Amino acid sequence: MTSVSILGSTGSIGLQTLEVIDAEPERFSVAALSAASSVDALIAQAKKYRPQLVIVADPRDVARVQEALPGGCEVACGVDGLVAASEMADVTVNAIVGFAGLPVTIATLKAGKRLALANKESLITAAPVVERVRRTEGASLIPVDSEHCAIFQCLGASHGANPQVARLVLTASGGPFRGRDAASLEGVTVQDALQHPTWSMGPKITVDSSTLMNKGLEVIEAHALFGTPYDQIDVVVHPQSIVHSMVEYTDGTTIAQLSLPDMRLPIGYALSYPDRLETPFGGLDLLASSTLTFEPPDRSTFRCLDLAYAAGRTGGAAPAWLSAANEVAVEEFLAGDLEWAQISEIVSRTLELYVEDPLDNVEAVIEADAHSRSAARSVVAGIRRSNE
Ligand code: NAD
Ligand code: MG
Repeated sequence: MTSVSILGSTGSIGLQTLEVIDAEPERFSVAALSAASSVDALIAQAKKYRPQLVIVADPRDVARVQEALPGGCEVACGVDGLVAASEMADVTVNAIVGFAGLPVTIATLKAGKRLALANKESLITAAPVVERVRRTEGASLIPVDSEHCAIFQCLGASHGANPQVARLVLTASGGPFRGRDAASLEGVTVQDALQHPTWSMGPKITVDSSTLMNKGLEVIEAHALFGTPYDQIDVVVHPQSIVHSMVEYTDGTTIAQLSLPDMRLPIGYALSYPDRLETPFGGLDLLASSTLTFEPPDRSTFRCLDLAYAAGRTGGAAPAWLSAANEVAVEEFLAGDLEWAQISEIVSRTLELYVEDPLDNVEAVIEADAHSRSAARSVVAGIRRSNE
């Protein structure tokens, strides 16, 4: 039996992780669950799965959760609780959204445990630190992001630069605004941006897909995970989301991973690795599938992709700045306080304020995140003033 801590258990990845566990209950048990705001949903999950530990983000929720749960289930709050949950299970699924997932990534690897990583922001912002803790004896990092799970499988699960790899090709659905130009995107609403054509995901990553920032973050994620130079990481738009990514080798061979778009497959892969689930989530009927098409991304309309490549190539704290500025901009957009096109503008103008900054410990990562957020907020304030 594999024990699993699911942090961010009430979100899209968290709920699908519980569906994987429901499908193969003889294989997995739940050690810990956590949520930030959906406390009632968290209580219902804890009653069903009986974890040893439940973590909330707001101390005011602790008493209510304690009262609602049977004895034997401890209730904790904040980072200390997340760290305890990361240390206690065989596998920790980091399904928290945004920079708030950092303590889970670091604590799981430091404890020499397996990290099933959905929270790409923690890897992107803290890559040099994660690279170090990843070497802890017993630690392993299995990507849950579908593209990286695909590449991991196509590489034969190897980690580290492989001279026989010519190129990684990340596929992108293109998001809800594929094919549109800048003029036609003026005034698009939050609702428009949340209409993803192939995946059903949380709001932040769905907006990131609409700007192609998600793909930009994934380019940096691929570099951090597999050690592949940026010049050898490409992006192609593949609207059907059947080919989840590819590895091209030096002899001209390309190996791809295909399935229907179903996150339960990469989640299940990360939970059961090196074995595979017996449940075919996303199993493909090739004869029923439509044509598979590939096209280049529109880099001038969706500027976030190149902003991410540039931040990745700059290295140091630049990816942390990119990710934090994007979080600020997406929050403002989701709150209805910003135009969609201003997301890339805020990220770009914030990165102009970046001064080279090495990243060699967690404190430096937290500081870089705070600097970038405050720079992004002043950029937002400047834009507001000029709108008035
Ligand atoms: P979501 O918004 O649906 O869920 C987020 C979860 O994190 C919730 O349980 C929420 O309560 C918790 N949370 C939010 N803020 C928190 C905080 N400050 N502290 C602690 N917990 C907090 O998000 P999601 O779509 O499930 O995405 C989660 C992560 O997985 C993101 O990093 C995303 O990029 C990545 N990811 C998601 C998908 C997908 O299909 N949803 C695919 C690939 C990667
Ligand atoms: Mg992805």
